[in-house]
Amino acid sequence: MTFTSKIKCSNCGHFNTNSDYCEKCGELINPKLKRELSDQKRLDDRDEEERNRKQSKFELFIERNRNHKNILIRLVFQLLYGIWFIVMAIGAFIAWLFAAVAA
Ligand SMILES: [Zn+2]
Repeated sequence: MTFTSKIKCSNCGHFNTNSDYCEKCGELINPKLKRELSDQKRLDDRDEEERNRKQSKFELFIERNRNHKNILIRLVFQLLYGIWFIVMAIGAFIAWLFAAVAA
C-alpha cells in the first residue's frame, strides 16, 4: 500500500494528491511546509525590525539613496550624508562642551 495524502487547497478548494503545492492555483498546501515558511518569515520580519530600530528613519532614508542608480541622486545623498555626519560630530562636540562646562 502506498501512502497517499489528499489535501484540500485553502485557496481554491481543489483536492491535491501527494503535492506540496496546489496543482490548480499553485498555493502552498503542505501544512508542515507552510508552518516552516511562516516561521522563517517571522524570523525575517524580526531581523528587519531589529535593523530598523538601530537606525533612525532619516539615516535609513539616506543610506538607501546613497546607493541609488541615478548618479545625481546618489551625489545629492552623498552630500547630505556628509552634512549629516558633520552635524552629528558638531552635536557630539557641543554635548561634550556642555558637559565640560557644567563639570
Ligand atoms: Zn488551489
